[in-house]
Amino acid sequence: MPLDTESYEISVARSAADLREAVAAWRKEGLSVALVPTMGALHEGHLSLVDQARKNADRTIVSIFVNPTQFAPNEDFSAYPRTEAADAAKLEGKADLIFAPNADDMYPEGFSTTISLTGVSEPLEGTFRPTHFAGVATVVAKLILRAMPDIAIFGEKDWQQLMVIRRMVADLDIPTQILGGPIMREPDGLALSSRNVYLSPEERKSAGQLNVILRETAASVANGASISDATAKGGKRILALGFEKLDYLEIRDSTSLAAFPDDRPTAPARILVAAKIGKTRLIDNMPV
Ligand code: AMP
Repeated sequence: MPLDTESYEISVARSAADLREAVAAWRKEGLSVALVPTMGALHEGHLSLVDQARKNADRTIVSIFVNPTQFAPNEDFSAYPRTEAADAAKLEGKADLIFAPNADDMYPEGFSTTISLTGVSEPLEGTFRPTHFAGVATVVAKLILRAMPDIAIFGEKDWQQLMVIRRMVADLDIPTQILGGPIMREPDGLALSSRNVYLSPEERKSAGQLNVILRETAASVANGASISDATAKGGKRILALGFEKLDYLEIRDSTSLAAFPDDRPTAPARILVAAKIGKTRLIDNMPV
């Protein structure tokens, strides 16, 4: 089947076969390939990863797939914003190909395989979304195996996800280099997210303080406060902003995401938060 070039100016592959055909043609020319996996509803955070891809490879594929298996039944899979035409317009002149499969193509009847990780996938998000990273690891492995890119780029916004993917790629000998891209933020520091559209104006204002509390909590630990004291204070401040539920505010080893047993960072550390305001669950992180 030829690539779908009629709907948008940028080419769109809808099946693994179409994607492989496009990549094979590039390979024949000796070109290198980058993959940027996304769920669409693209914003400047995604586009910064696309820029990074362009700097690191000759051709850039952006996948757009709202992956059902990484959402729990009570999560926002149906409500998740789907804006393919606008996404295609944003990628014009930036990416070379969109890969936008449908769910039946990714998970045909009888699909039975799941990649799940122990260790790095277990704490933090793993505690609150116990099936999430198995969904992510499986879909990312499939996307990488379909595109066979030289590099794949993920945002530091989803820090634990980036660590999970790095671990999986190392463990399974997948010959794709994984790059991380810095978190893009609004002027008040709120990390850009496709889910920010759910925020009411009042919630949006409180959400802008989350990064401030993260930075101050990290600074207080860097200046000698214990992790438990600093995160307890930070957590109270987050709840005082109007967040109904703090899933976690933790300072962890930045690579393994293990806790520090003596309540002080003894290796490169990261502060990570997940909290709910209204119906929106926000995550953020930064180095300590
Ligand atoms: P998503 O569409 O939310 O699955 O995100 C697709 C990719 O974009 C993931 O690797 C995210 O970590 C990354 N991303 C999302 N938001 C941002 C942001 N604000 N800055 C940088 N990368 C981001």
